[in-house]
Amino acid sequence: MNINKIFLSFAMIFLFALASAFFTISTIKKLSVHTQKMYTHPFSVSNAIANIQTSVITMHRNMKDVVLTKYSFHQSKEISVVIKNPLELLKIIEAIQDEEKKVYKEFDLVYLRYLGKKEDIDASLKAFKEWKRIRQEVISLIYQHKLEEAIDITKGKGAKHINDLYKQIDVLKHFAFSKANEYYELSLKDEPLEQIIMVFVATFFLATLIALYVVSTLLKNNKNNQKQLNLIDQNILTSNMSFDKKILSISSALCYVLHTKKEKILNSENKYFFTNEAYFRNFENTIYSGKNYKGEIPIRIDEEDDWYEIEVLPEFNDKFILEKFTILLTDISDKKQIEKVSITDTLTSLYNRNYFEMIFSKEINRAKREHKELSIIMLDIDYFKKYNDTYGHQEGDHALKKVASVILSHSKRSNDYAFRIGGEEFIVLSYQEDMTALNSFAKSFIKDIEALHIPHKKNNISKYVTISAGAILFGTNNVLSADEMYKKVDELLYKAKNAGRNKVESIYLK
Ligand code: GH3
Ligand code: MG
Ligand code: MG
Repeated sequence: MNINKIFLSFAMIFLFALASAFFTISTIKKLSVHTQKMYTHPFSVSNAIANIQTSVITMHRNMKDVVLTKYSFHQSKEISVVIKNPLELLKIIEAIQDEEKKVYKEFDLVYLRYLGKKEDIDASLKAFKEWKRIRQEVISLIYQHKLEEAIDITKGKGAKHINDLYKQIDVLKHFAFSKANEYYELSLKDEPLEQIIMVFVATFFLATLIALYVVSTLLKNNKNNQKQLNLIDQNILTSNMSFDKKILSISSALCYVLHTKKEKILNSENKYFFTNEAYFRNFENTIYSGKNYKGEIPIRIDEEDDWYEIEVLPEFNDKFILEKFTILLTDISDKKQIEKVSITDTLTSLYNRNYFEMIFSKEINRAKREHKELSIIMLDIDYFKKYNDTYGHQEGDHALKKVASVILSHSKRSNDYAFRIGGEEFIVLSYQEDMTALNSFAKSFIKDIEALHIPHKKNNISKYVTISAGAILFGTNNVLSADEMYKKVDELLYKAKNAGRNKVESIYLK
């Protein structure tokens, strides 16, 4: 899983959390609006109106008391006691006035918070005020002892007025109450807490799902990485080496090739897989120069050389200081085998003509570059046609092999090369210090081949197979082209043949 996916997942969680927060805030705001409305308007208004109605009824009852009391004054002794005291009447009137004050106060509140039409309140208030005139008329008739008229007014236009007033106030009350109910229903319907909990649970659930997805993908990636590391460990020949040449890590595959165990080679300081000193020196010199090293090395295990391509990559720290090396090896034994076959003569196991062409020009260049004196010896078996004629071609091959083995055994130094360049013709390339060295080197071939004692009765100069040679030491200023050098040494061999065979003709071209 790449970093983008993780980022996307957490961005989604963040967005969900943000959305849920917005939702919660807006729900709470909505709730507070309803609460506010409920506070400012509905129930307090409907209560105030209900209070007005109660006060109106109380006042009306008091007015009835006023009339009835006066009426009883004529009928009963008991009640006459009450009316004898005019203060009692005043008390009732005062009670009516108190209720009136209450009504005006409640009207103030209704004016302030009522959400319906203001004209409806005006009409109710006007009707309430007009009732006062009727009340005063009744009270003044009582004081004038016109009881019958007072009763008529109270029961007639007074009662009708109260009835109308009550109905008008009832309209206000009904409106205020229905509004209150509406908001109450709304606040119940919102069920904000439940919704907030639901959103929170959904957000938590989604966040958990995303987190699980992220974690499971990371684990899967880890597993895949581990799998890849295992594949590398088991199939790639690689190791890490510190600057002071200690093996820091090594793959199991390379341990297997080296026939060793990790714990044995880790942190050890040795020549690693270099079983050839010359290759090791070359490797060391190159890697400390900070350059990549690439080459082919033989690794000798159980007396056999296997060939590997080696690549060493230097690793630098932040300050570009060489810190360690990564080493990669590739098995090239097959390639080497094919290479070997392509440059080897099948009959004699010496190098073949093709390889001679390649190496000859390479060595010429090296001699020029390094100011070295290159020597070339050309050899040809004497009267070999006759040998075949006498002993047969198969015996001829056999003799060729024996002669070649002597040539090979004499050319074992690191810069010696022995080739079969034709039927029974050979070339040996080497670096000799001087003519004395070259002559003794060339003569050793002549001497040791005759010493093989391969019978050759048609050989005019010996009982055995012999060989003739031309040898040239090219001075540093006289290294010529391949063709010229070849021609010169061929001429010298011809000279040896003419001079009687089984001998060397040599010259030093300074
Ligand atoms: P000289 O002393 O002048 O060299 O005489 P020569 O008979 O050796 O002459 P030359 O070198 O020209 O002869 C080459 C002979 O070598 C020809 C052939 O019969 C023989 N020959 C070449 N290649 C092979 C080979 O692969 N196997 C065998 N058995 N004989 C070969
Ligand atoms: Mg020949
Ligand atoms: Mg010959």
